[in-house]
Amino acid sequence: MQMQRVHNMVMRGMLGAFHAAAKVDLQALTLPPPAGPIRANLKGRTMQASTRISGILGGGGDGWGLFYRARAMVAAGVPVTELTIGEHDIRTDPVILDAMDRAARGGATGYAAIPGTDALRDTVAARVQAATGVETMRANVLIVPGGQSGLFAAHTAVLDAGDTALFIDPYYATYPGTIRGVGAVPRAVPARPEDGFQPRAADIAAAAPGARSLLINSPNNPTGVIYTPATLDGIAGVCRDHDLWLISDEVYDTQVWQGAHVSPRALPGMADRTLVVGSMSKSHAMTGSRVGWIIGPPEMIAHLTVLSTHTTYGVAGFVQAAAKFALDLGPAFEAQVAAPFRRRRQIALDLLAGQNIVRAIPPDGAMYMMLDLRATGLSGEAFAAHLLDTRQIAVMPGESFGHAAAGHVRVALTVDDARFTAAFAALLETAAELAPQGDTHET
Ligand code: PMP
Repeated sequence: MQMQRVHNMVMRGMLGAFHAAAKVDLQALTLPPPAGPIRANLKGRTMQASTRISGILGGGGDGWGLFYRARAMVAAGVPVTELTIGEHDIRTDPVILDAMDRAARGGATGYAAIPGTDALRDTVAARVQAATGVETMRANVLIVPGGQSGLFAAHTAVLDAGDTALFIDPYYATYPGTIRGVGAVPRAVPARPEDGFQPRAADIAAAAPGARSLLINSPNNPTGVIYTPATLDGIAGVCRDHDLWLISDEVYDTQVWQGAHVSPRALPGMADRTLVVGSMSKSHAMTGSRVGWIIGPPEMIAHLTVLSTHTTYGVAGFVQAAAKFALDLGPAFEAQVAAPFRRRRQIALDLLAGQNIVRAIPPDGAMYMMLDLRATGLSGEAFAAHLLDTRQIAVMPGESFGHAAAGHVRVALTVDDARFTAAFAALLETAAELAPQGDTHET
């Protein structure tokens, strides 16, 4: 009901007149789907959506109520500082857009090769091989319209209806829905705050009997954690012991602030049972271009090409040309796209050092920071709601990412440095106001 009301509010807002900035923001708006039966004018009879599609959200809301409320406020003209979703505050670089334009004008506007152009597949293969040391050929690469469609395709490729699929909690919002969307059953494995959100192999092993796949994400959204070599060895061991497919979401692989990102595909015995999902969205600020890839064994890529033929029919040729151009700009360009997040992470760590209410695990990677607000006595949801109401700052409640991050909020490092500094300081002040006197943690 609440979701429906927010949905209606947002829809009304979209129809109204609001300033240009709000319009830009609203283009990125993801509306919650309408719930309930579809009324057809057939003598009072009702048409039903399939259980599979109507069940994607698993009966509950999608946990993004606060996000939609913030967006509705923006639409109504309230100057909300949005530290919610993983969207850069820069746009795709003009040199990449020029490449896209040249390609389109040069004729790349027809159907493109469904598994991807040879040129882009070869470029991705070389990049993956250079980064991981694992031999990677064109036949190991499928180009897909963004990481999300890669996640959906990868789960379709390894799961039958009714199969169980593991994923780690806290998780990126779409994970359980992606699994339900392919007709399978999601089973969460908690990663605990006291372990720095590194999942324990023993917990995964305990959940593994009867499961067919495990989905992991490192560098991690929402926690910013990069899995340690020990964590990855443990995960690989469980996958080998229980014959699990590993789906490794590596869309943040260029946002590494500390330590190193290791792709589990490089671990012994893993290349044949791992599907890696990559994307240009985060690495090259190309979220709107919808281009990414799946890396896997050639037989699986052949199956996935058949799937693409029956779903997406590939990715626009001019987008693929732009993606190849962007990858050819090399690691220095990727570091430049990542630099603002690295800076703001440091700003946040410096501000955190001056207080002792809010704890954080310094993020090793990705464009987020998970803050532990349990010293305030509030849930992440209650804190986020209070922050939005009193300071017009929107952050994501930890509870929108599962159970393991209750009492936390996720802050996206996605507004300019000055605004970020002010908002982060205001968040810390709010936490200090809310914390019971004397209830602090040792720093
Ligand atoms: N995986 C994770 C962990 C993400 O955070 C996102 C986007 N926020 C995606 C996948 C999907 O990204 P895209 O479809 O834009 O590649």
